[in-house]
Amino acid sequence: MSAVLPGLRFGVASAAGPRETNEDATLAQDDVFLVADGMGGHDAGEVASATAVDALRALADDATAAAQAGAPSGVSEQDVRAAVAAAHDSVRALADSGHRRPGTTLAGVVVTRRAGAPCWLVVNVGDSRTYRMAGAVLEQVSRDHSEVAELVADGLLPPDEAARHPWRHVVTRVLGGGASSVEPDVFLLPVSPGDRMLVCSDGLTDALPDARVEAELKALDDPQAAADRLVAAALAAGARDNVTVIVVDAPAHLPG
Ligand code: MG
Repeated sequence: MSAVLPGLRFGVASAAGPRETNEDATLAQDDVFLVADGMGGHDAGEVASATAVDALRALADDATAAAQAGAPSGVSEQDVRAAVAAAHDSVRALADSGHRRPGTTLAGVVVTRRAGAPCWLVVNVGDSRTYRMAGAVLEQVSRDHSEVAELVADGLLPPDEAARHPWRHVVTRVLGGGASSVEPDVFLLPVSPGDRMLVCSDGLTDALPDARVEAELKALDDPQAAADRLVAAALAAGARDNVTVIVVDAPAHLPG
């Protein structure tokens, strides 16, 4: 249960899809909602995403402790950066099982407070995504760390070609992998009443365009039902990857 936002509700759904193993992992506990999409040879991806999520579990305890202590500021950007660095080291310490070092993406939100007001602390490494639906409009709030996203940002690729580009799965930042350190994107967004946050692996966004994701999210009020519906829609659309979704709903009335 959320200590920061009483009345917050969430749902989690994940499917291996056509793959033999599900290399996605989730953490949805207290005020922490994260998706990790592992990569690497053999079962390394599965181990990498699970290891990262385990290392980040401490953030959930920190968030709860800060909220219960009545701290006007809960978990901070620095807390998240430190936890991500520790998770990076844990994944880096995994045995190298083949030609590719184990690694994982990470995306999601930590619910915290700034000057007493509830905030989403958004964190991202790689191409798993966080979206916000405010009112009835879905907007991607995380920025993909991928070759294709960088080409689009540099004006070298039209945005509508990104979803089909052959390099679309090439990520430029990962937890673990070959780099000695990792630079996550971490930023705060104030919570608006009724916000619906979506955290997902690329298996969802590869299978469904954003407009379809928005339509599916609007169809159901219950977050667990919405998460189940999104995963089912991605599988029905021919998802070729693991598909993982967390839907987090802020209450319609925020604590004063
Ligand atoms: Mg994936």
